[in-house]
Amino acid sequence: MAKKTKAARKQSAGVAKKKAKVAKAKSAVKKKRAVPAAGGSSSPSTPGPVGNAGSRTGVPASAGGTVSIRMYRGLLGDFFFVKHSVGATAFKMLIDCGVLQCIGSKANKPVTSLGKQRIIAGADDFMKACGGELDLVVATHEHYDHLSGFILANDIFKPLKIAKVWMAWTEDRTDKVANGYRNKKGRALAALSALARSSALAADSDEMKTVTNLLQFYGGIDPVGSDGMAVARRKSNGDLSGNASCEAVLEWLRTKAGPNNVSFLKPGEVVRWGLRDAFRAYVLGPPREDAKKLRQLDPSKGTAREVYLAKGEDVETVIGLAALHGDGAGPPRPNDQPFVPLHWCPYGPNGERLKKNGAKQKLNAEVVATYTKADAKYRRIDIDWLGSAENLALKIDGDVNNTSLALGLELADRRVLLFPGDAQVGNWLSWGDQTYPADDSKDGPKLKIDEILARAVFYKVGHHASHNATLRERGLELMTDPRLCAMIPVVEQTAHEQVTKSSPNGWSMPYGDLYKRLNELTGGRILRGDGEANAEKSKFKASIFRLSYGADFKAGDPLWVELALDL
Ligand SMILES: [Zn+2]
Ligand SMILES: [Zn+2]
Repeated sequence: MAKKTKAARKQSAGVAKKKAKVAKAKSAVKKKRAVPAAGGSSSPSTPGPVGNAGSRTGVPASAGGTVSIRMYRGLLGDFFFVKHSVGATAFKMLIDCGVLQCIGSKANKPVTSLGKQRIIAGADDFMKACGGELDLVVATHEHYDHLSGFILANDIFKPLKIAKVWMAWTEDRTDKVANGYRNKKGRALAALSALARSSALAADSDEMKTVTNLLQFYGGIDPVGSDGMAVARRKSNGDLSGNASCEAVLEWLRTKAGPNNVSFLKPGEVVRWGLRDAFRAYVLGPPREDAKKLRQLDPSKGTAREVYLAKGEDVETVIGLAALHGDGAGPPRPNDQPFVPLHWCPYGPNGERLKKNGAKQKLNAEVVATYTKADAKYRRIDIDWLGSAENLALKIDGDVNNTSLALGLELADRRVLLFPGDAQVGNWLSWGDQTYPADDSKDGPKLKIDEILARAVFYKVGHHASHNATLRERGLELMTDPRLCAMIPVVEQTAHEQVTKSSPNGWSMPYGDLYKRLNELTGGRILRGDGEANAEKSKFKASIFRLSYGADFKAGDPLWVELALDL
């Protein structure tokens, strides 16, 4: 937008005037469209970076009205409806809409499989609540548990109108740094997906279970496909099919809003939200300048091990393994193999060794046993390589979390609502790498992240309260406002169903020590996706927020929980 304004200035006064007139008329039409029919509510203006509109001069003394945060419950996934209303008008924002989906047998994951019904019921309720029109959709990152609602309830969302979309800079197709990152990730995911489909590899091995579990975050095995994260799964009419990828969802959102209404936000930026752009939002992450932080998932010191994003070698190994076992994407490529073609031995559909002419190969039983006995599997190179696949899957997963758009939504009185997506350690650490303009003046005072976190009265707990997605000293301990409340989009039973041999109890969400400290800092004011409403109500009696619940999805199990704050 800034570039267009500059270009316009270079034109002759007459042309500029004419163009401005056309633009004004166009914008009037657009604004007219954005205002819904009687009974509806919408902001007449939409948010944009500070400085894009001359009329925006600092924070209004008092924006008035009410700000509410609604979390849809029963989901291991984020689905938040944030609203700023004054009288009958409202600014309506959706932050993510997704739920973790099952891979494999529903019998093994009965609670996980319920998530689909919940999000469809939630989408239905949400469309009624927002009147089918949104001022802003924030898509924090490319994970199924943050985006799958748009796939699973695509029919319900079809009529949704979206004025603006915010995404992280990592999703910007015109950004070289982002494209390099995405290509690498797409290649690695395609290799993992090919492996997961291979009949020759033990699907029930611990390593493969981890791989398929983590592929859930991209929409399962098929949606990732051999074409990586390509946008190949949208129907010809633009709808999202049942097996759409997360990438297809992001594309769907961008198309709904129109390319000029999508902002790819960078850390340190300040953007506007709320009725009449009443409020500021600080863009905290994902990090851009320090690539190392984008890859840092766990603490540098302490008991947790340090994990870094897929090194090139890991990706190559998994591509080689997938090619070795055949993924239906064509013959193995010599460059992906560890041995030259002379030494290749083809496999049959049941994993049996074949001769080059396709006949079954007779092998020395003693030699075969050396590699296939239960206690001799370590000798097989493919079993060894599966460890690489597991590592790669874990690293990609954490790395995508680190691309989360982390936002500090500020209210007029400077209180802050913190929405970090699934940001992991490196993303949190980077928030201190930049300062944030304290007001809209060009050379005005700057804020440090410590000051922003000290004003947080609401914390959407990062990554469903896992162990490495809320920093201690540089994070939660800085949230010192005694009015602090938290929401955790988690269903503990769903997390526990994600079982592999190396994690027999599934995922630890919420993580014990973090939960304990959150409980202390909030005085117990924590709302969970699987929380018990009466117990939660008793904790919120003295809160600055008004607590309410939606209609029951099942008896005693409301569809959503909401916090409202009068300004
Ligand atoms: Zn995530
Ligand atoms: Zn998540």
